[in-house]
Amino acid sequence: MAQSARDQDGVGRMEFLLTLRRRGIADKDILRAMEEVPRSEFVDADHFERAYADQALPISCGQTISQPYVVAYMTEQLGLRPHHRVLEIGTGSGYQAAVLSLLAREVVSVERYRTLADIARRRLQKLGYKNVEVIVGDGFAGAPEHAPFDRIIVTAAAEKLPEELIEQLKDGGAMILPLGPHGGSQHIVKLTKSQTGIEHEQLIAVRFVPLLPGRAREL
Ligand code: SAH
Repeated sequence: MAQSARDQDGVGRMEFLLTLRRRGIADKDILRAMEEVPRSEFVDADHFERAYADQALPISCGQTISQPYVVAYMTEQLGLRPHHRVLEIGTGSGYQAAVLSLLAREVVSVERYRTLADIARRRLQKLGYKNVEVIVGDGFAGAPEHAPFDRIIVTAAAEKLPEELIEQLKDGGAMILPLGPHGGSQHIVKLTKSQTGIEHEQLIAVRFVPLLPGRAREL
């Protein structure tokens, strides 16, 4: 029998983890979660052979599944604890939500495209990620009915800080988001909320699809 797709998949997954380590991801729990979540289940069939390459890939509705390194990096910077409740803005494929679900108690993920939300919800259910709730809505408004959150992660680039999300963060909570002009120079920014105010920290340069206002008019 010719080398099966599974064998190739296996080699790809080993390299995948080595790349994350080489690029500086050190947290054992995060590496374990990245190892456990099958990215090949979250990419479209056309891109199956690139599922474990360290690159963003196109998904439906003109969106992307983020680059694995950036998923791991943002997750590491979130500083998740097992009891945390997390809000994600931008469900997309559901991949980041699956990674978060292995490291936190509960994940609420908001997506503006119903098509993407439906696919991701079904996929997460099928793969057994039970502590994720996918909601169709406008991420700028967050999920007030589920607030407050210990951590918030935004996976689309905001041009300015989304104030309503900061309000849905607990004191002592943290939010991580790509910030910067659409198609321009964006950085991951970490905000930490305390009684004395909000602390900002600028991290690595990135390129994300834009955080757009309102629910998508198309499906
Ligand atoms: N976390 C995703 C990456 C998704 S790309 C993954 O792991 O696959 C960013 C996603 O954010 C897109 O699906 C896009 O539709 C969504 N998005 C953009 N603006 C939004 C908004 N205001 N509210 C909710 N989702 C939004």
